[in-house]
Amino acid sequence: MSIEKNGLRVRFAPSPTGALHIGGARTALYNWLAARHEGGEFVLRIEDTDLERSTPENVAQILDALRWLGLDWDEGPISQVGRAEAHAEALERLIETGAAYRDSATADDVKAWKAEHGADRGYRGTPSPDGTGAIRLRVPDEGETVVEDLIRGEVRFPNRSYDDFVIARGDGSVLYNFAVAVDDADMGITEVIRGDDHLSNTPKQLLVFKALGIDPPRYAHVPLLHGPDGKKLSKRHGAASVQELRDAGYLPAAIRNYVALLGWGPGDDETLLSTEELVARFRPEDVGRSSAVFDEKKLRWMNGRYMREMSLDEYSATVRGFVDAETGGRALNEERFAFGCEIVQEKAQTLQEVWPLIRFLFEPPVEDEKAWRKVMKGDAARVLGEVEALLAGIDQSGNGPNHDGFTIESVQTALEPLPDRLGLGAGKVFQPIRVAITGTTISPGIFESVAALGREESLARIASARLKVPGPEELADQA
Ligand code: GLU
Repeated sequence: MSIEKNGLRVRFAPSPTGALHIGGARTALYNWLAARHEGGEFVLRIEDTDLERSTPENVAQILDALRWLGLDWDEGPISQVGRAEAHAEALERLIETGAAYRDSATADDVKAWKAEHGADRGYRGTPSPDGTGAIRLRVPDEGETVVEDLIRGEVRFPNRSYDDFVIARGDGSVLYNFAVAVDDADMGITEVIRGDDHLSNTPKQLLVFKALGIDPPRYAHVPLLHGPDGKKLSKRHGAASVQELRDAGYLPAAIRNYVALLGWGPGDDETLLSTEELVARFRPEDVGRSSAVFDEKKLRWMNGRYMREMSLDEYSATVRGFVDAETGGRALNEERFAFGCEIVQEKAQTLQEVWPLIRFLFEPPVEDEKAWRKVMKGDAARVLGEVEALLAGIDQSGNGPNHDGFTIESVQTALEPLPDRLGLGAGKVFQPIRVAITGTTISPGIFESVAALGREESLARIASARLKVPGPEELADQA
């Protein structure tokens, strides 16, 4: 029997033993891109045969992460456990044709056999007369099993050194490589794109295909991801799962772009490619052979680029969704929120960075003692007095985000000449204002921040800070 292969059918087959990690996300993305590029189909199969570690929560997490990443599937999720009947049927068929047999040899028997025949010789068993024992697949003595890998080229495995491997236990429950091959066969998968940690499984899966009399799919084994230190990617390298990336404020489109470039693409990992462009260009055979490096710093940079390219409406809505999730969705003045977004759009690289930059517009200044000690000394009180007077003099009739005459321009016109007039550096003048209105030294541009906060609140915060700044005598006391 040979499955009709009309068009590309790929699958992503995660084992739900934990969250979806970046490596898994890249495998899913490559499959999805290959399917969309060819107008083919993307099947989702959940390899849940490890009954102890596969949990419904993990399955839900993986589906959620895929949906969030925008990787929609055309079929599934199909549970591998749910296909037990199909596996049993395939097993029956192989026993009937003699391609597989029951063998009651124990592990010790196999060891003894190898001691006799040589360690590099694959074990060959004898069918048990009473029909008990594990079920093994017959592996030919001659020839090679050849994986024609789209990425790695030809990889050859001599059959002689392969055991007649167990495909099902004595109770009939099937083993991993058998289940995968039967599923790929039944589902008409034409191309298997997966991590190259599975390359060593491939000859066994090919042997199962052969025994079933079905043409195997083509394989593309993608090199694993490493961290910037060259070690296998793990939690040590920062956010490791898709959920963590989401919580850290990355955008799905930026993740798709950056992750696609890990091992594939125009040769660097800084090229901005929209998802449409990725779909148009991606081919698994163009994935490189060496391991790629996931560097969160570069993802962060790319994410910042995506954030800057959004329209302000989209930006505000996206930031709002993120902030709501973090703050419990409390009411925030819309106009002020939109203006706050506008003044940080150039600055923030992740959604997570936005709220700390604009929270001063909705909450009293934070308490940052270090910032106070560093900035609120020397001329600070005098400077703040001058600033108050200048800001109070701004014509109220103008508009601005608070309809009180405070605009970026009017604030800038009022304050910009001050450092020169006082004979002080810009930092000595503007940092005290920043600390007065936000409590800390990190904020959007100072004119923008004052305009966003508005006349009443800015003047109140500056006045209150001025009164708290230690005078020269107090400073002398402290010295
Ligand atoms: N379930 C395997 C994994 O999560 C993938 C198997 C495959 O793609 O063939 O690593």
